[in-house]
Amino acid sequence: MRILITNDDGIHAPGLTVLEEIAREFSDDIWVCAPSEEQSGAGHSLTLNRPVRLQQFGERRFAVTGTPTDSVMMSLREVLDTPPDLILSGVNRGANLGDDITYSGTVSAAIEGALAGIRSIAFSQVYSRETAGTDAEFAAARAWGAKVIKPLIDVPFSPRTLVNVNFPPLAADAVKGIRIVRQGFHDYARGSIVEGKDPRGQRYFWFGLHPIEHTLDHGTDLEAIDDGYIAVTPLQLDLTHYASIDTLAQRFVDAE
Ligand code: MN
Repeated sequence: MRILITNDDGIHAPGLTVLEEIAREFSDDIWVCAPSEEQSGAGHSLTLNRPVRLQQFGERRFAVTGTPTDSVMMSLREVLDTPPDLILSGVNRGANLGDDITYSGTVSAAIEGALAGIRSIAFSQVYSRETAGTDAEFAAARAWGAKVIKPLIDVPFSPRTLVNVNFPPLAADAVKGIRIVRQGFHDYARGSIVEGKDPRGQRYFWFGLHPIEHTLDHGTDLEAIDDGYIAVTPLQLDLTHYASIDTLAQRFVDAE
């Protein structure tokens, strides 16, 4: 089984190494192609206004001077002679839960894989101040990653779907288990933009990390993490809101 590994934290990110270690439990045919620099928050963006360069660090290890989506495209079109059976993205440093998934480069790399018809899974380790930068930071992902992947290798994936996995910020033995859940929503947050002045006196703004409030809806990814479980959420790329098609169509007929 050929596995492609990518991320949005960049080729040097510790979480990428964690995911490589997990993937090696399933295959020796592991390829890594990730952004050369951190691309968190890049979403599903493509680099269109400048060239993208491919850097090689080993027989099966590459970096792309672009986004996670660029990295998957380059992997499928330039790097690999035959496509992978599985694309794993992550393990992201920080959560990709609820409505945050559309900002996520980690999830978007898996979206690109799903669009290409390849089984794709995104992984994120929820951040905790206590474990940040220590060996314990990816403890839950490291201990539970293979257990999460195993059933996902042969279960059927519908076309243009992917799976989003988040690990709670807990020690391996404190994780309560795995829940299959739907995507939740955060309360819309304000006040996270920090204003300052640069050394030349020009005003700048910086989007800050802050605790995001959410009302815990039952059966969501947010609730699962809050309860100490690994959240596994199947996602679909068809964003159509079917219930609105007839209502909108009727409105346009009425307007004629
Ligand atoms: Mn990231």
